[in-house]
Amino acid sequence: MSDYRYERVLLKLSGEALMGDGGYGIDPSVTERLARQIKELHDDGVEVGIVVGGGNIFRGLAGSAKGMDRAQADYMGMLATVMNALALQDAFEQQGCSCRVMSAIAMNEVCEPYIRRRAMNHLSKGDIVIFAAGSGNPYFTTDTAAALRACEIGADCLLKATKVDGIYDMDPVANDDATRFESISYHEVLVRGLQVMDSTATALCQDNHMPIIVLNIDGDDNIKKALTGEPVGTVVYQED
Ligand code: UDP
Repeated sequence: MSDYRYERVLLKLSGEALMGDGGYGIDPSVTERLARQIKELHDDGVEVGIVVGGGNIFRGLAGSAKGMDRAQADYMGMLATVMNALALQDAFEQQGCSCRVMSAIAMNEVCEPYIRRRAMNHLSKGDIVIFAAGSGNPYFTTDTAAALRACEIGADCLLKATKVDGIYDMDPVANDDATRFESISYHEVLVRGLQVMDSTATALCQDNHMPIIVLNIDGDDNIKKALTGEPVGTVVYQED
């Protein structure tokens, strides 16, 4: 544990991180790999909470763009996150790792309801906790839910796992000369309109001094490197 800079972390995994090359849904070999990577931190004594997205299955905005009622579509998106949470729980349990799923929308037959004090208790006892169904409210994203849960459970940082290796000054896929920031302030992220997390999530972290580390989930030990202070990804910090 002594190598780690953070004792309790909140990891935000997008739904897309679970789908592998399939373009849709959940790839069990991917959830297995993710669980193995996260289990290593857990075995080292880091307390891990996870918020998982649902974009690999359904996004509310996509539904409303096709004419659905936005709130109705958002509830479908939140249900998609529960499926992802259950898939991840299965992957953790297959590796002998104790893992709870707590949902912001009650569905007692499949998982526990989200109760903050109980979640903190699970984490203290060494269970991994997956927070499902986002914030439980339409018109929000799982990035905002991740920022909210990170603050609520007293996490030391929010890790945002993505498909790129940090925050760039422009889209690195479309621009060869895009430059990666090693660190950047919340203010600059908001002013420059950088696509790190949505602005509600960034502002919530800024207001509550919650550090964000943006990193690429595809590197096998990137999370561990980031948590032990190696220069991986981009750190978003509070300006003095
Ligand atoms: N969602 C919501 N409220 C929340 C979190 C999520 O309504 O607090 C819905 C929203 O429709 C969103 C979908 O759930 O599009 C899936 O979440 P998100 O798009 O954040 O997933 P990700 O992009 O991380 O896979």
